[in-house]
Formats: sequence, structure tokens, C-alpha cells
Amino acid sequence: MNWIDTHAHIYDKKFREDLSDVIDQCREDGMQQIYMPNVDHASIDAMLEVEAKFPECVATMGLHPCSVGKDFEKELYIVEEWLNRRKFAAVGEIGVDLYWDKTHLSRQQEAFRIQVNWAKERNLPIIIHCRDAFPETLELVEELKDDRLRGVFHCFTGSEEEARRIIDLGFYLGIGGVATFKNGGLDKVLPHIELKHLVLETDSPYLAPTPYRGKRNSPAYIPLIGKRVAELYGISTEEVLAATTANAMALYRENG
Ligand SMILES: [Zn+2]
Repeated sequence: MNWIDTHAHIYDKKFREDLSDVIDQCREDGMQQIYMPNVDHASIDAMLEVEAKFPECVATMGLHPCSVGKDFEKELYIVEEWLNRRKFAAVGEIGVDLYWDKTHLSRQQEAFRIQVNWAKERNLPIIIHCRDAFPETLELVEELKDDRLRGVFHCFTGSEEEARRIIDLGFYLGIGGVATFKNGGLDKVLPHIELKHLVLETDSPYLAPTPYRGKRNSPAYIPLIGKRVAELYGISTEEVLAATTANAMALYRENG
């Protein structure tokens, strides 16, 4: 059993020059799989090229809330076409982001509802992006929750209470580089949350863990995040590896 990065944009142009080297490093560091969330129409070709070239890289399909603008219906049409054309590991990433711009909230909510329905119809998990919008996102998930709806709140950095609300909905918490930051706040939250609710992620190329903070992130840094999580729980890194990999496989319904 090896590490899984449940969220990495390694098709990003920041990897264009040296992705083969990055993947070699990931293999050396014991990475088993890397899941790639889509952003919008402009990221699809690059993502599918990476998937075709590297067997451990797996594509998902969805429209990112930051790409929900006036033309979001056109964007959603492209997502739906792809979901009908072939199999993807998840619908993502989707959600609500009010950090940059609050004017698109109702469009983001509509795009989320539509994509959640596509996930349910296909029995796929969803990858949720939620930034400065926890109450809005939680409300949507509670509204749409049924036996078929499952997934992950990616890049979780919230409070213990927020973590509990997510867990109560049956969702996983995606834990990344912020867990290694001195003032990241997760040191106070994670030890109170059972390991069975966590999956690991890098969100590459963003949010590199300490000691690479501020630099380009890589899925090869997943073991650093795992090591930090082990410290926070006072258990071995092997235990964190076993639990989070099993959780990631359950999330994406892989059989190993
Ligand atoms: Zn992302």
C-alpha cells in the first residue's frame, strides 16, 4: 500500500517543463495514485494528456466555482458532454468561492446543484471546493444530501465544529499542506477527529507544505503531510498511510 494524492492539478502549466521528472520523484517517494480535479473547459485537454501518459494519474470532471461566470451554461454543457462520453473518478471540483467575488453566488449555487445531480445519476463522489463560503456550501450539501451523495471537502482548514458537520454528512476532509504550517490551526482540530474521516491532498501546484512553503507544490510531498498528521495524532506515519490510503480508495471506490 502506498500514498494517494486525492487532489493535484499537475496538468497545470507550472509542470509543463518537467512533469516526467516530477512523476519519477513521486514514484520514488511511494505515490500510488494522483487524482486530478478539473477546473473548466481550458484545463481538460492538458489533464487528459497527463492521464493518458501516466497510469497513476486519474482525471475527474467538473466546473470550478471560480470559473462560473456569465457563460457558465456553456461551460456546464462541455462538462456534461464529457461525463456522458467516458468514465471519470469523480465530479469536481465544484463548490462555492466567495473570496474574490460575491456577485456570482446564485450562479455558483445553480452550477453546484446541476453537477451534484450528474454525480448522483452516475454514482460518483463529488470534490467540493469551499472558500469563504462554509455556511453557503454546507446549506447546499444539506439540501441535496441523499443516499447517493458522497465526496470530500477539499483543502479543509476549518474549526472542529465545521469538521463535525462535514463528517455528519458522511463526507471526507481533504487535508493538505496547511496542516504543516505553524499557524495553520489544524493542530488544534485534527487530533479530535477520527482518522477514518481524512484523506490527504496537495492541491499542487498551490499550498506547498513546510519546508517548501511558497514554492511549487508537488504530489511527491504527500509523505511530508502524512508525517505531520502522524505527529499531530501521536501515531506512526505507517498508520496514517494505511488509513488515509484506504479512505482515498473508498472515496474514489478503487479496489486497489
Ligand atoms: Zn483544486
